[in-house]
Amino acid sequence: MYDPLVDQVPPSNETKPDSFWAADKQAYQYPPLTGQQKTDVVIIGGGYTGLSCALNLAQEFGVECAVIEANQPGWGCSGRNGGFVLPGTGRLSVKQMRERWGKSVSQAIYREYLDSIDSVESLISDGIDCERSAGGYLKLAHKASLVDGLHRQAAELGDEYGDSIVPLSASDISNKYLSGTPSFGGIYYPNAVGVNPWMLCQGLAKKAQEAGVKIYGNSAISECNRSNQKHLLSTSEGSITANTLIVATNAYAQRNLHSGLKDRMFPVLSSIIVTEPLSEAELLTVGMAEGLMVMDTRPLKYYYRILPDKRLLFGGRGAIKGKHANQIKYQNALKEGLLSTFPNLANVKISSFWSGWVSVSLDDYPRIYHDTSAQTLYSGGYCGAGLAFSIQAGKRLAQLYCAPEQLPDLPYWKSPLKIFPLASARRPALQAFYAWEALKRKVGM
Ligand SMILES: Cc1cc2nc3c(=O)[nH]c(=O)nc-3n(C[C@H](O)[C@H](O)[C@H](O)COP(=O)(O)OP(=O)(O)OC[C@H]3O[C@@H](n4cnc5c(N)ncnc54)[C@H](O)[C@@H]3O)c2cc1C
Repeated sequence: MYDPLVDQVPPSNETKPDSFWAADKQAYQYPPLTGQQKTDVVIIGGGYTGLSCALNLAQEFGVECAVIEANQPGWGCSGRNGGFVLPGTGRLSVKQMRERWGKSVSQAIYREYLDSIDSVESLISDGIDCERSAGGYLKLAHKASLVDGLHRQAAELGDEYGDSIVPLSASDISNKYLSGTPSFGGIYYPNAVGVNPWMLCQGLAKKAQEAGVKIYGNSAISECNRSNQKHLLSTSEGSITANTLIVATNAYAQRNLHSGLKDRMFPVLSSIIVTEPLSEAELLTVGMAEGLMVMDTRPLKYYYRILPDKRLLFGGRGAIKGKHANQIKYQNALKEGLLSTFPNLANVKISSFWSGWVSVSLDDYPRIYHDTSAQTLYSGGYCGAGLAFSIQAGKRLAQLYCAPEQLPDLPYWKSPLKIFPLASARRPALQAFYAWEALKRKVGM
């Protein structure tokens, strides 16, 4: 599998991601960039960030822009994720945000999270068909000692952050939400929805194209240069010149694609398995409410949901290096996680397994940044929680460029992503973290 820390350029001959979401579905193919083209704003990356930014630039501000995608829209994370549309991004809890920035800023950030769900919902109500299911999201405490803290968090989010989250005891959970796996308690977000993420991305691309955006597929940018106030981007078949560059590659950019982003994100693999459709008896043993999405509170989480056609999707950590991503041991490790959660599914068959790169930022929150001196913007570092947020980030990128006075006062656009010191130590450190978490899980910590 492509590895952004190793490969000089992503592949450019693929039509779809290898996820369950895109299998058996027709995809419109956007033509490659050929010859010498010109535009006002060029965006690298045809995922939610790039496409949402392009749509907003064209629709709200009348800006001429082009999206250049190495493969086809949704080939990166946006066609590979779990489809959980949740409030949040990065890895900071509300408590940590309050300690870092104070209460009113943390409240404004949470409003942004809620707005990001509204942004997805409004795309869906505008006609994007992406198999939306409204079952809410259950956050399960993995230790009894965490339940009181989760319940306090639910109360605070309701009283002071404008959300409506329901505290649940272990018996509430087994009676109403999830009976097939033991729990200590948790909290329930009724407004979270599930989607087919690849279909959402396809719909976004079509909308952007209808708004006048040029989308080029199968066009991996191998070089980005700037001279005489112009950006010049090259692929194997063509080039494009633009006044402004927006890098929306998130974790998928090769390390040397753009000097302004070098070592500011850490690409980490996340993997998913999907089972064959469960029988009625198996569904009963899982005992999950319709459309419900579940995640636990471990630092290395498992997340799962039953899909509309009754398959169980189960996700968690992947390999460390791209060249190992498809090894059977990572699929088996997820299956072991699935069986430890639902021991009665011993005979279940896995029908799909895939991985994608999420981007971790050094200080656990993303940035949507404009380097005015280089006429370059970027957004990324969502730490694996970016379905709804990257769609919102695309809108904010467009505002940051065209009308920064419209932006709320949030830390996201005030500084660039931080550079990882000792960048080459990132993978060994991740390996050590995984070993430590595996040990904790084994001894029941
Ligand atoms: C397995 C998995 C599960 C996840 N589950 C969830 C979830 O349930 N909920 C949630 O909120 N988040 C989830 N995420 C995270 C979420 O998918 C991402 O945050 C989001 O999709 C990021 O979108 P993006 O547009 O910024 O990046 P991407 O969708 O990754 O798009 C970047 C694009 O840039 C292109 N690109 C890179 N380099 C070049 C180049 N040189 N030339 C041209 N194009 C280039 C790539 O081909 C890629 O298509 C998950 C991620 C993974 C991998």
